Amino acid sequence: MIVLKSAREIALMRRAGHILAGVVERLRASVRPGMSTLDIDEDVEAYIHREGAAPAFKGYRGFPATVCVSINEEVVHGIPSPRRKIHEGDIVGLDLGCIVEGYYADCAFTLPVGPVPANVQKLLDVTRESLDRAIQECRPERRLSDVSHAVQSHVEAHGFSIVRAFVGHGIGRALHEEPQIPNFGDPGRGPQLRAGMVLAIEPMVTMGSWEVRILDDGWTAVTQDGSLAAHFEHTVAVTENGPEVLTSRTGQSALTAPASRG
Ligand code: MG
Repeated sequence: MIVLKSAREIALMRRAGHILAGVVERLRASVRPGMSTLDIDEDVEAYIHREGAAPAFKGYRGFPATVCVSINEEVVHGIPSPRRKIHEGDIVGLDLGCIVEGYYADCAFTLPVGPVPANVQKLLDVTRESLDRAIQECRPERRLSDVSHAVQSHVEAHGFSIVRAFVGHGIGRALHEEPQIPNFGDPGRGPQLRAGMVLAIEPMVTMGSWEVRILDDGWTAVTQDGSLAAHFEHTVAVTENGPEVLTSRTGQSALTAPASRG
């Protein structure tokens, strides 16, 4: 069952989402070569607590940290470590969630550290754009698979691949609620969207094959062929007036706007 949220519940999720937007701004300015992935995690955890929220991932099914940090061929769920350093030219996936008065928000972005080759920047741009297109489908009376199809059609038109092992999700009083939101599918299928639904949409895109495997740590998902992967995510409320991106201070997809090429 897809739980509809009241205006009060969405307001709490907006507060959680705007805290995450602040974390994203902070990380864009602070992540640099030589830092460890644990340095990032500790900074974000302290920030979230200072803002009066709680980290959403720490302890979730045993995940040990606040941020999932997934570098290069790592797709999602990388575990922060003092031994894993950021290098110039890496692309760093940062996935974070927080909880305000029992309500969750979830977002992710992939950050290039210094200059990256044009084809790598293209991977990041196309993944971001696919999220933005999916967000535009979050309107009453669209179908759930219209969201999925918006991601798939844009990504595949640019020759990249969609990871299938992980999907987006409803979100609210739990981090993962119904429905599951695949990043692929034919349009016009599945439940009709309604005002009050809140969806975490999260395309995961690779430069090579879509297949992934899990490392021995039990968490980190990497591309099976070692190709680079990108991940972007927003928490989005369906409203009568269209989508509201709860993980952006403007309500719009701020992750997409600055680098958007239309
Ligand atoms: Mg998520």
